[in-house]
Amino acid sequence: MSDPGRTEDRIRVAVMGAAGRMGTTVCRAVLDAPDMELVAVVDPPHLDEPLENFGVAGTGLTLEMVGPSVKKAEPHVAVDFTNIDGARSNSRWCALNGVHAVIGTTGLTEGDVQDLTGLFDGERANAVVAPNFAIGAVLMMHLAAIAAPWFESAEIIELHHENKIDAPSGTAMLTAERIAETSTEWVPDPTQKHVLEGARGGKGPGGIPIHSVRLRGLVAHQEVLLGTTGQSLSIRHDSYDRTSFMPGVLLAIREVRNRPGVTIGLDTLLGFGAQPV
Ligand code: NAD
Repeated sequence: MSDPGRTEDRIRVAVMGAAGRMGTTVCRAVLDAPDMELVAVVDPPHLDEPLENFGVAGTGLTLEMVGPSVKKAEPHVAVDFTNIDGARSNSRWCALNGVHAVIGTTGLTEGDVQDLTGLFDGERANAVVAPNFAIGAVLMMHLAAIAAPWFESAEIIELHHENKIDAPSGTAMLTAERIAETSTEWVPDPTQKHVLEGARGGKGPGGIPIHSVRLRGLVAHQEVLLGTTGQSLSIRHDSYDRTSFMPGVLLAIREVRNRPGVTIGLDTLLGFGAQPV
């Protein structure tokens, strides 16, 4: 029987993007988890700097490139919170080296997901890809999809911190996709005159308008607005702190080895809205 208290039974975790905002938070969460061990930290722009410089003390780990020395640390799972190019190359490395991947980096395209499906065949390694690891956000998407057939208008407003480089958020796109799967009956957009280009947002899956706000002080927030005759329903989720993503990330680290191939979305791991690719 495995005993998570024993070093040899712990899940060995490498963190990609370890010097970043999410990466440092993941490092702390892994260090606090009794059944996990942080064995490697990857962040090429900060090569050879101690992890300690980024506020994660006491590991003795130094930031490195993905490659032989990471392999030598024998990670079971690598967690990626980098950028789109980093996620593409790191996930390829994971698949080729038999390391399960938990990918939180957003902005992956449909083509990227197809590539991942080819790479993570369930034989050597699996992957969990989730644009949002906050359990409340996943519930927001699920509830929006349940409610959608009872409404004729739907719009999504996503609000993030001032450093987010992709828009709209992966969560907003996925929410629109989920809503479009359960309802296609929308009243047409009445706008005939666009006084300001983009005022009605971008059209997401199902033609659902998505509006992106970038504001200093915010972390990650989203509101789904659903309207019908004489009433509306707002479903809102707020992540006030990056620790909000950690229960979901830790769940994915624990579960990825049991999920052959590529699993998209935390909801599959939570037992609803299964969407394996
Ligand atoms: P950040 O810029 O603070 O951190 C990214 C880190 O990755 C940086 O330290 C950078 O040096 C490093 N990096 C760049 N290229 C790399 C590579 N090839 N290999 C390893 N490291 C590399 O960004 P952040 O706020 O931490 O966000 C990272 C990603 O996570 C973004 O795509 C963001 O949208 C996403 N995100 C996802 C969730 C979720 O729940 N899935 C939540 C928050 C953020």
